[in-house]
Amino acid sequence: LTQLFRPLDLLGMVYRTIRQGLIDMEAMFGLIDTPAEIVDAPDATPLAVGQGVVRFEDVHFAYDSKRPILKGLDFEIAPGGTLAVVGPSGAGKSTLARLLFRFYDVTGGRILIDGQDIAKVTQNSLRGAIGIVPQDTVLFNDTIGYNIGYGRDGATQAQIESAARGASIHHFIESLPEGYDAKVGERGLKLSGGEKQRVAIARTLLKDPPILILDEATSALDSHTEADIQRTLKAVERGRTTIVIAHRLSTIVDADEILVLEAGHITERGTHRQLLAAGGTYAGMWMRQASEREEVLLG
Ligand code: ATP
Repeated sequence: LTQLFRPLDLLGMVYRTIRQGLIDMEAMFGLIDTPAEIVDAPDATPLAVGQGVVRFEDVHFAYDSKRPILKGLDFEIAPGGTLAVVGPSGAGKSTLARLLFRFYDVTGGRILIDGQDIAKVTQNSLRGAIGIVPQDTVLFNDTIGYNIGYGRDGATQAQIESAARGASIHHFIESLPEGYDAKVGERGLKLSGGEKQRVAIARTLLKDPPILILDEATSALDSHTEADIQRTLKAVERGRTTIVIAHRLSTIVDADEILVLEAGHITERGTHRQLLAAGGTYAGMWMRQASEREEVLLG
């Protein structure tokens, strides 16, 4: 009988991995329309992740052939490195992340992970290798322990607690009368934006992916919580190849490379210092945000 159930177990795992990916993506991008169905190539093999080098080669993309969105993106993120993408609303930042997750297929060029074209590997292995911390985390109407444990099939209580510690939410959970069994979600305890983000971080820690996509929330948390979350995220990023879709430039000053994306083109690229010195779009955005920060400080 166990022989019979083994494939079912496996199927369950595959289903969960894909479902989690899709739910994370929905949360990340507020997707409402169902994208065209992506199917595995008949000869698809599992992605073999080594160091986690992510490479975009002349990537083009259009949701609708009449309107190109990404117009030839080239970049490479070194293992464990951080790439930040900034730019005006509608420039294609989220689209770029969706393509890495293969939520859509590129219309030109290739995306490679450790030299393997992501269009040729199984979706399950690809999505298993990428963690997402979305802007807004979807919580299930279940316990907070379940909501964290969702990051990895069969996670033990000890692993869940260790992830919660890593995401600095363990003490908060312990302070709840029901602890890890406290119900959250619409019908339970309402968590704050920061707490929900910590749940997403804990899930990601459990998943332990070599590649990470961070979608920074557009609406800022209060500055103390924000700084706290940033510290936690920095620790999660360590040793993982990371793409940050950034809205607040103060969070990406340490990125290895920053891309300024405008209307589907990379118009500037470099480190924070280099881009400030160049005095272009990025420098302008930085000055604007700096003066906004000052206004907040001066009240
Ligand atoms: P923001 O900072 O506002 O999130 P963004 O840079 O992430 O913007 P994208 O979400 O990548 O921008 O969108 C790029 C363009 O693609 C936009 O013009 C958007 O209208 C269009 N677009 C996004 N999703 C779809 C879709 N599912 N179908 C058709 N067009 C889409």
